[in-house]
Amino acid sequence: MKLPESVVHILEKLNKNGFEGYVVGGCVRDHIMGKTPNDYDIATSALPEDVKKIFNHTVDTGIKHGTVTVIADRKSYELTTYRIDGKYSDNRHPDEVIFTDRLSGDLSRRDFTANAIAYNPEKGYVDIFGGRDDIKNKIIRGVGDPEKRFREDALRMMRAVRFSAQLDFEIEKNTLDALIKNAELIKNISIERIREELFKLILSNHAEKLEILINSGMTKYFLPEIEAGRTDYAVLSALSRDIRLRLAYILKDMGSKKANEITKRLKWDNKSIRDVTLMVKLKNMDIDSLYAMRRLKSCAEDITPLVLELKSAIEGHSLDEYNEMYRTVKNDCTSLKALAIDGSDLMEAGFKGREIGSRLNSALDYAMQHPEKNSKEELMDYVMKRGDKKWQKH
Ligand code: ATP
Ligand code: MG
Repeated sequence: MKLPESVVHILEKLNKNGFEGYVVGGCVRDHIMGKTPNDYDIATSALPEDVKKIFNHTVDTGIKHGTVTVIADRKSYELTTYRIDGKYSDNRHPDEVIFTDRLSGDLSRRDFTANAIAYNPEKGYVDIFGGRDDIKNKIIRGVGDPEKRFREDALRMMRAVRFSAQLDFEIEKNTLDALIKNAELIKNISIERIREELFKLILSNHAEKLEILINSGMTKYFLPEIEAGRTDYAVLSALSRDIRLRLAYILKDMGSKKANEITKRLKWDNKSIRDVTLMVKLKNMDIDSLYAMRRLKSCAEDITPLVLELKSAIEGHSLDEYNEMYRTVKNDCTSLKALAIDGSDLMEAGFKGREIGSRLNSALDYAMQHPEKNSKEELMDYVMKRGDKKWQKH
């Protein structure tokens, strides 16, 4: 396994000081699969205080759990002391973390065999649970007794499905059975942690495996609205990798009110909640003219391309064609801000109160119908003569 220079240095330095160090977890798995790892996590027999003594630049990122971040060559690496987890009494986290000087203990507390392989250049692979075979055979298998492991930390059930979707692995039967049997325990996990795993699954190359999550019974506890077979989940992975778009596709038939309720329940950020709600609301707008495209843009603003992609996936309409229309209107005026006249122009012309807003809106609608007429002269002329019909909000 070819490791970055700085990782080799860290492992050597630990060794020189009488400690063991191994890269472990996702980076080993990714490497075996021929993928470039996102980051390198290091497990070590050194205690956090030893790590801080040995390395010059460290940050206390998770001392409580035995993690110290070491900065080397302007990159950061998490060094975590070998640990075994204490008793779990809440299906969430261990009551206490116990450090150990044995790598095998540390590997045993990990979730899946593919994630429980360690490596260092001197000793080679340490693979006590057959993780390499499982990777070769594309299998997600719990380390130890899967049922016990899911009862310890119920989030592992979602991680099983998430990894199966990201890596395109099958969940081994015993592990899947344990997952189905214990699905209900997911209700003990915070919605933020659930959301994180759910979104990774939806953003993966095999988002259709969302159906495994649904069929397992887990979604019943945080997203009872979604059903297997109701939506063509295979479409998801063909959509752009934007979680708002993919989620809007999943929620498309529920109406914008429900989409809003669900995204709020997931305790998402306000902008994303607004975007998904708006996408579900606007997906039925008919785009049969450039004027209609401008109206869509005036409602959807920066997420117009996402609404178009959603529409195209639902209707089977050519996305290229929508995008071509969108490009044509992209620089046209579609907001009051971009309109050549404003409130003070209307006040000067003698308009008062509500009349100002309604005339501005009708001027905007006029400018969206005739983009070449977005000039002060043309619009004032329109507003004075004909701008009295009510502007329709869509
Ligand atoms: P990714 O590429 O998504 O980061 P990863 O395997 O690195 O994948 P992380 O969530 O970063 O996943 O966790 C790092 C490692 O820590 C895992 O590979 C696994 O060994 C262990 N781990 C993480 N979460 C758990 C958990 N809930 N239970 C047991 N082991 C876990
Ligand atoms: Mg990771």
